[in-house]
Amino acid sequence: MWENLNLKDVVALARDPYPSIRQWSRDTGKKVVGSTIADVPEEVVYAFDLLPVTILGTHKPLKKAPSHLPDNACSLARSNLELALTYEGDLFSGFVLPQVCDTTQHLSDIWRINFPDKYVHSYLAPRQADRPSAHYWVKEEIERLITSLGKWTGKTLSDDALNKSIALHNENKKLLAELYDIKRNNPGTLTNKQFFALMKVSQQVDKAEFNKSLKAIKDGLKLKKGKGYTDVILVGITCDPPEIFDIFDDLKVNIVGDTLVTGSRYLQGAPAMNGDPVQALTDRHFIRGFFSPIHDNVYKNFEEVKKLYYDTKAEAVIYVHIEFCESQEYDLPDLKDMIKKEGIPIHVLDTEYQTTSLSHVLTRTQAFFESLKGGSL
Ligand code: SF4
Repeated sequence: MWENLNLKDVVALARDPYPSIRQWSRDTGKKVVGSTIADVPEEVVYAFDLLPVTILGTHKPLKKAPSHLPDNACSLARSNLELALTYEGDLFSGFVLPQVCDTTQHLSDIWRINFPDKYVHSYLAPRQADRPSAHYWVKEEIERLITSLGKWTGKTLSDDALNKSIALHNENKKLLAELYDIKRNNPGTLTNKQFFALMKVSQQVDKAEFNKSLKAIKDGLKLKKGKGYTDVILVGITCDPPEIFDIFDDLKVNIVGDTLVTGSRYLQGAPAMNGDPVQALTDRHFIRGFFSPIHDNVYKNFEEVKKLYYDTKAEAVIYVHIEFCESQEYDLPDLKDMIKKEGIPIHVLDTEYQTTSLSHVLTRTQAFFESLKGGSL
């Protein structure tokens, strides 16, 4: 189903992947397990012959979520809950829900109560990743997930099955990284919208099939440098709705690097293939870049953005703020201050999953790039 897609198919799939996943699940008889972001080791879920799907909100109206969550809960959390409660709940046989911030910590119980007939497992990633004990903690959590999935499916996971799953996921990330390089250096070849659709769909469909599409798309690209692009770094957790990428494409913005959880951070740290797979997945957890709710070196976010900016020779930073994300709201003032002191132009985009009009984003982004070209930032 997903092995022979072209770029147009992938962009459409990224907008609404669920009918296709539902059909795939019917055809294969395999169960679908949803996870919210971030850091659930999807390789483990896949190795149990299940389809791990990263849930990234819905753009349909909120109907039930507001009665479970306050208005100031983050837009992504509300949207994810709505997707499961109203629109796609039947598709998922279970959920592995990471508790990464205060919102997700409370959400986990809300999901458990609302889906009493489904498998629900809480994955407790450590919030303080710079403590030595965090390594022990992550390994224990991965083993606890393996035990829990084993009980639910009635299967025993072998190292061989887990290593095969890791290899498939590593191949997917290698292909995406190669496509990113092509897009970065030849922005006329792939639009931002197309590239980030490839990234998103990779996190939602069977990689055994989709890797074939990625390879064929990559091999079929005709390199075009294009003219008049402004290279930028995209900073944040996610970037939705996907029409934001249309705005970047219309303004000839070329995203040459990012720190998104659903972007480059997803590609970081391919687990090693020649040893204990659980240890390899544990080690990978600590190689990944900054993520707002995870507390380690407080300067890590700034240092990462600064390095990306200079390494890629970008001209500006765009920070994508998800409405009411408390973790981002805590980090953003200091980050903005440090970026401005460094003399790097920065533009903050406020996003909301249920947005129906992006005219305000277009106007403000347009004004930012005009000022950038005029040298007035
Ligand atoms: S990290 Fe932010 S966006 Fe993600 S669930 Fe928590 S509050 Fe929401």
